[in-house]
Formats: sequence, C-alpha cells, structure tokens
Amino acid sequence: MLMRVLLVNAPTPGYALQPYPPLQLGYLAAALRASGRHDVEILDLGIEEQTDTETTARMQGFDAVGLYFVTMNWREGLRLAALAKQLGLPTMAGGPHAGLVPEETLRHGSLDFAFVGEAEVSLVRLLDALESGAPPTEVPGVVVATADGPRRHPQRAPRPDLRTLPWPARDLIPMSRYREVSDDTSALASRGCPYPCSFCAIRVMSNASYRRRAAKDFVAEVRHVQRTYGFDRFTFFDDIFTIDRRYVLALCAEMKASGLDITWSCETRVDRLDPEILTAMRDTGCYRIFFGVESGNQRILDSISKRTRVQQIKDAVSLTRGAGIRTVMSVMVGTPDDDAETIRDSIRLTRELESDEVWFQPFAPFPGTAIIPRISDLLDDDWMDMYHRLDLRSPVMRTRHLSLEEVKSLYLEAVMSTGARGWVKPSQATHSVS
Ligand code: SF4
Repeated sequence: MLMRVLLVNAPTPGYALQPYPPLQLGYLAAALRASGRHDVEILDLGIEEQTDTETTARMQGFDAVGLYFVTMNWREGLRLAALAKQLGLPTMAGGPHAGLVPEETLRHGSLDFAFVGEAEVSLVRLLDALESGAPPTEVPGVVVATADGPRRHPQRAPRPDLRTLPWPARDLIPMSRYREVSDDTSALASRGCPYPCSFCAIRVMSNASYRRRAAKDFVAEVRHVQRTYGFDRFTFFDDIFTIDRRYVLALCAEMKASGLDITWSCETRVDRLDPEILTAMRDTGCYRIFFGVESGNQRILDSISKRTRVQQIKDAVSLTRGAGIRTVMSVMVGTPDDDAETIRDSIRLTRELESDEVWFQPFAPFPGTAIIPRISDLLDDDWMDMYHRLDLRSPVMRTRHLSLEEVKSLYLEAVMSTGARGWVKPSQATHSVS
C-alpha cells in the first residue's frame, strides 16, 4: 500500500531576502515518486500564506508529514509539526537545522524522526519501514524519537547518485508564485564541499564530500525550467560552484553548445578562480559571484581554517570585476578571535576593494561544526538557546577580546560602512543590536 506524504516548507517570517523554491523538497519528492512506492505532495508555506486551520485541513488524508526548516525558522517548523501531531500523523524533520542537531530537534516533542545528511534515500526507506511495520530505528541516516529518548542509527544515510538523481519535482512547487516575485530562480549542479573551514555547517552536512552532476543533464534541467516556468535568471546554489575548473569549463561549453540564453550567479571561494574560467562564465551569462570572504585579517582567516590569503581576496575581486562580473563579499563579524582591529580590517578591505555588494553577517557557531569544541570558553551552559536566536542579523556571541555589546557596536559600524552596497539596511542592524 502507498504511503501518502505531505512535505511542508516552513515559512520564515521577516526574512529579508528573496524567497527561492524549496529545491530540497523538490528533490525528495522526485525521489519518492521515482521509488514508485509512495505518493507525495508539497505544501510551500515559504511563498503561500495559510492559516493554521487551512494547514491542518491540508494535512488531512496524508499518512505522514515531513517538515523542512532551517535555523532561522526552526520554531515555525516545530509549530507546524505540532499541527500534524494533533491529527495523529507521523512527523519527520529535514534540512540543515534538523540535520545538525537532530536530538535537540526531537527533544521538543512534536517530531518523530529527523534526517541526518542527504535524505533522498533514507526518506524512501523510512516510509517503507513505516508502511511495513519494520523498526524505523534500523534506517541509516534517521534519528528516531523513542520513549527512552532520541536514537540515532550509527550509519549515515547512503548518498544518492547525482548522475541518476531525478530533477526536483518543480511541478509540485508553486513556481508561478515565485515567478510573480522574481525572474530569478535556482538550480544545483553539485553538492558538498571538502574544505576544512571550522565554522561551516555545509562541510559537516556533506561529510566533506563533493559530487557533481553530468553537465548535459544540468544544462537540460536549466533549459527545461526556463521554457516551462519562464525564468531567464538563475542562481546556482552549489556550495562552491568553481571548485573543479574543468567541470566549470565543461558546464560553460555545454551551455554555449546548447544555445542556452540566461544570466546566472553563483558562490565560490576566492582561491578557485582564474581568468580563463571567469571569461567562460561571463560569456555564458554569469553576472554576479558571491564570495565567502569571512574576514579581511589574515590571523582571523587562519583561526577559522579558511585556508585563504587576504591577497587572494584582493586578486579574486579584482579579476572578477575585470571580467565584467559583479562581486559580493560576505564577511563575518565577531568570530571567536576577533577584536576591534580585526573587524576594522574587514571594513577597510571592503572599502578598498569597492565590491558591488558587501554582506556583513554576525558570526554564528553552529552545533556539530569543528569550531564548537575550540570555543567552549565562550559558550555558556545555555548556549543552545543562543542557537535559537540566530537570524543572520543579530550578533549572539562575545569574542575572546570583545563583549557582546562591543560586537554589536562593531557590527553596526560594519553595516553602516556598506551604505547602499549592504544586504542589511542600517535600520535593520540598529534594530537587531538594540
Ligand atoms: S565556508 Fe565555503 S569553502 Fe569553507 S567549508 Fe563551507 S562551503 Fe566549503
């Protein structure tokens, strides 16, 4: 018998950035359909507003509900899970928050299962188990809420093969609603990152692996999205888009050969670019590159294991702008070893390089990342509560040299310095630090 599953994208109230379709849910839905064993629909509250009464009515008739949420909207995710529990439905949580802190996520009582790592395989297996009555505790990659507390399977979930993974089920996502708010949408050519940055959740979630799709398959999907949904602009949300230069050149060659006519942007590291790939990227429509710069101070870059040099930041921004591509510098404020001078080094660097956009973000210590054991001196006993206050605009932690109040003040100084180039408006920063 089929299990009928509703996958729910939790809303993010007050989120400042443009919403993108929940591709992660699209991938999961596609995997469920490809299994031929389960029926799936998506409720996307990231773009569709509903009352709780409407959401509860929508959940009726399903055999299980899966919630996707991130750290910023974890409370919304749990609230929606509670609605499903009131109907007596099994509830599952996926996404970076549940994956990083599954036991903590289950502790609140409204969720039965949390997925660790990529869930395309483990979701199908969990539903198989629920349908057949097999113990869900035997499904790798799943943490189960039991009467004795959360039980985590010792093995990670098997990773799906990206060469055969079906395209995200965008037909289950209200793409027309997204098209109403923007001509920009998302796609993914690869997953994961092998770099050792100690603060990064992506490295943990991908188990430091990097995998990529066939260039032809990726370009075919982008063309399909353009033709079917009318998007001419794409953000490729790969963790490090240019990590493999030969692959980037192959992607660009495929885009060119197929006559794909779009503009696109991506994210990468400052040490993974050179003039040849920048030219190929620009010639196929790349108009903007987002750099995870993190700091303008070498001591801080070393302290977070970023493995980049300040000079590489300068070179990357200069090369990219020289190629006619817009630059975004993302910089963290308040890393554990930051002091006023190191933060002002970052402010000075962003001014010097005149990047088209500058995103100052408060440092956030994600549980499960390599940096956590190294900053026990900065974490209070109730530091997990701090985790729940994260919103990308509010400093939440002191440093070894600065009080939280001083970090807030320097964060405000950094945001003010960006003017029109900043992603946080000064008024939002003022609100967040007051
Ligand atoms: S910060 Fe960027 S380069 Fe570093 S591990 Fe994370 S995704 Fe990789």
